Amino acid sequence: MRKIEKSKENVQKCLCLQCPSYSQICQIKNTVGTSYKLMTEVDKIKHLELMFCAFEKSRCIVESKGCLCKQCEIYQKYHLQHQDYCLKTGGTN
Ligand code: SF4
Ligand code: SF4
Repeated sequence: MRKIEKSKENVQKCLCLQCPSYSQICQIKNTVGTSYKLMTEVDKIKHLELMFCAFEKSRCIVESKGCLCKQCEIYQKYHLQHQDYCLKTGGTN
C-alpha cells in the first residue's frame, strides 16, 4: 500500500460525506471546522473528519452503517484493502 497523499485533490475524492455511517449530527458538528482546515495546507493537518484512510479515525462517527470506501477512487488508486477507516485507524478487515 502506498502512503496516501494528504492533498486537497485527494480529499475532494473522499466519499465519506455521502456514507450512511457519517451521521447528520457528525456532519453538522464538523462542516465548519473541516472547511476551515481545508483552507490551509492539507499535509500539515493533524486530524480531519474526512479521508480517514489517510488521517486517523473519526472523533465523531461511532457506528458502521455501510462503508463506501471500496467504491472510492482513493481506494483503487492506493490499493487499499480495509474499510471502516472512520472507526479504526488503519481500517477494519
Ligand atoms: S470510512 Fe467508510 S464507513 Fe467510514 S465514513 Fe468513510 S465510507 Fe463511511
Ligand atoms: S477510501 Fe474511504 S476514507 Fe479513504 S478517501 Fe475514500 S471514502 Fe474516504
